[in-house]
Amino acid sequence: MSLSSAPHPEMLAVVKIGPGSDNVRLEHVEEPTAGPGLARVKVIATGICGTDIHIARDEYACDPPVIMGHEVLGIVDSVGSEADAALVGRRFVCETYFSTCGTCDWCRSGRRNLCPTRRSIGSFENGGFARYVVVPVINLHEVPDGVSDSEAVLAEPLACVAQALLDPPVVSAGDRVLVTGPGAIGQLAAQVAMAQGGIVTLAGLPRDTERLATAAGLGIATTTEIPQANSFDVVIECSGSAPAADVALRSARRGARYVQIGIFGKDVTVPFDLVLYKELVVSSGFASTPTSWRRTMALIEQKLVNLAPLITGRVPIDRWQEGFDAAAAGEGIKTIILPG
Ligand SMILES: [Zn+2]
Ligand SMILES: [Zn+2]
Repeated sequence: MSLSSAPHPEMLAVVKIGPGSDNVRLEHVEEPTAGPGLARVKVIATGICGTDIHIARDEYACDPPVIMGHEVLGIVDSVGSEADAALVGRRFVCETYFSTCGTCDWCRSGRRNLCPTRRSIGSFENGGFARYVVVPVINLHEVPDGVSDSEAVLAEPLACVAQALLDPPVVSAGDRVLVTGPGAIGQLAAQVAMAQGGIVTLAGLPRDTERLATAAGLGIATTTEIPQANSFDVVIECSGSAPAADVALRSARRGARYVQIGIFGKDVTVPFDLVLYKELVVSSGFASTPTSWRRTMALIEQKLVNLAPLITGRVPIDRWQEGFDAAAAGEGIKTIILPG
């Protein structure tokens, strides 16, 4: 028997084990080690995202078997060769691309989010629903001392919102802004639009009363009614539901901007002629770029957004299913998994 047969330590991980709807299991997997240019992060918390629900349902591309989770907060525990050992022991959030090709038009113009062969953690490479995750050191953003774990863990979804709303900016001071969908992305979009000087209304369904109350507590106007047609300068669709997109298109004024951030996960029917009749400017943002991360870390550090109240659920990893169920049912705003 050789010495190398000593068993590797194992960890619990939430794994998409193969294609098929809800083919997600809690499994024992080998703990990873950091290769060249990589850091091993001991996870403090990883947020459950709508994208995770889409991955579980086979509505979003992935490469199973793969450990899920991409909204990672943790402490660097070790680094591989060609990585700075001074990173060890410090607290970070991380960008989600494990690799991109580096040579396509989009990579070369700083838009790695659009690289056709990008491989992100949580879908193509092992992610953060586990004790450890290994990421490229260039993806790490250190969390400033004055920022709590509950604020920092929302950095990744905030970076996606920043990509859609800040780069380039879509709201001007005094704009009337409608945000549809009071989940985490809608709440973050409402806060960012406010930080840009927008006069923001966050719209939801009657079943969203609690989530809307959280926003109202942070000074955002809310409604469960259908907003007046043709009354907003900017509409930001964050729910990924066709009825909400319908409302958003109808609520936009002539010449307004329509921003799609929610993912439908399927083909939908919406009154797209309104884009033409009202000369709407349609834009979006897919995932994030280093630029949107830089803005995100500044928003968090300068307290231009109020993130801690958006964490409404915390579950240990063995109760991951409860967290997924809450996210799928739209209960609460953001549930995080604590791998312990
Ligand atoms: Zn996410
Ligand atoms: Zn590329």
